[in-house]
Amino acid sequence: MAITNQDTTENANWWLAKKLAGYHPCMSSSASTAGIVSFEQARRMVEQHAATVCTGEVETVDLLAGLGRMLAEGILADRDFPPFDRATRDGYAVRAADLAKIPARLEVVGEIKAGDWPESAACSVGHGQAVAIMTGAPLPAGADAVVMVEHTSVADRSSGKVDVRRSVNVGENFVPRGTEAHAGQLLLDRGRRLDHASIAIAASAGKSRVSVFRKPRVAVLSTGDEVVEIDATPGPAQIRNSNSFSLAAQIESVGGEAVRLPIAPDEQVRLRALIEEGLQCDLLLLTGGVSMGKYDLVEQVLADLQAEFYFTGAEIQPGRPVVFGSCRADTPVGAEDGSDANTRAAAPAPHKKYFFGLPGNPVSTMVTFELFARPMIEALAGETPQKLIFLRARLKSEIRTKTGLKRFLPAVLSGEFENAEVELARWQGSGDIATLARTNCYVVIPPDRERIDAGEWVSLLMR
Ligand code: AMP
Ligand code: MG
Repeated sequence: MAITNQDTTENANWWLAKKLAGYHPCMSSSASTAGIVSFEQARRMVEQHAATVCTGEVETVDLLAGLGRMLAEGILADRDFPPFDRATRDGYAVRAADLAKIPARLEVVGEIKAGDWPESAACSVGHGQAVAIMTGAPLPAGADAVVMVEHTSVADRSSGKVDVRRSVNVGENFVPRGTEAHAGQLLLDRGRRLDHASIAIAASAGKSRVSVFRKPRVAVLSTGDEVVEIDATPGPAQIRNSNSFSLAAQIESVGGEAVRLPIAPDEQVRLRALIEEGLQCDLLLLTGGVSMGKYDLVEQVLADLQAEFYFTGAEIQPGRPVVFGSCRADTPVGAEDGSDANTRAAAPAPHKKYFFGLPGNPVSTMVTFELFARPMIEALAGETPQKLIFLRARLKSEIRTKTGLKRFLPAVLSGEFENAEVELARWQGSGDIATLARTNCYVVIPPDRERIDAGEWVSLLMR
């Protein structure tokens, strides 16, 4: 059965006309002319600005406390990796030439287990000889391969002979010293996020403490006269402030520190004061008040603060009214230098503070965070910029939708092993967090597709 995407909350033509024309009579021209851009243009603009930022401040933490943080130092190999010719199988260290003809009978002249160092002459392999060896042990002198124990049998225990049923190539079943990395070689770049794999590398290079960038402080400002704190009892027309909490969770999960501000009313004086407070942080995320209703005042107040707007809408659903811009920082101490990740630690304090005005509908807030705010926070946290990559899966049921917008629609990816399939959730639009919570990804629908058949490959954004 077809699933129809209903654009319940927004009327495309009305909205476009208002955003393009500039609805508020007192709004500065920079906001009204910044304009609506395609998803790709919007994303690139954010990436370009993100490439110029980083808090630059560094701290040293215990290795595990660095999980999810960005490295402020490159991690070098303190020795060769592996530090010796390392056997990768249990078996016998041999000379491959001795096994040119099989079966072959070899004399077992010693044994090396992991942790042993084969110094004694008894542990070198001569012509017609073998040394029993365990995974992780150093290869003895004279040997040039390891034959797996599975291909051998002990011929006569008292005489110390082993019969080998398979030949081996020179170099088989061991990793030569220094072939993974040489001493002094860069193992992890500065700007790399510490995940479990990079923590393993740092651990093996003896880094019990690592230098990481300071977490950026990200202000979260929810707006709306109808929005109340979550421990308040809402009046009949009021809703609880879920956006500040979903955003705080998203911020923390990508390496930022969320600073939740009090809820701003739809009134200019208090809204402006809270925006100014938010601009003290490294980044300001606003939610709500960026559509074109009479009481959507966020862009107007930002324009009054001499904000520069890079876009005031993106051709996406949900999240079309999303706004991206910057304000001059209070105390300009330096300028952006456009430097790369290897010189960013020395970057001076920024002379501009970026902000995103995210739409108030909770699903729109979450999607626009993921698409636009996330790369900026990652960059502020010191991460080398990453491109957004969509995964692919087969569609379970046909989709019908309208053209014109790139859509990111809540969906469930299911199946098992290689048989993944994805299906849109039946939702009530971008306020429907109850349905969203039951999904695990968004299906990405290109703006030119009206219908996608079951069985087609579609793009996914995991969440
Ligand atoms: P707005 O973008 O201000 O027009 O708000 C769009 C919708 O999102 C309205 O239904 C709001 O009530 C809702 N909304 C706005 N802010 C929040 C918030 N902080 N938490 C939950 N819902 C919100
Ligand atoms: Mg509002």
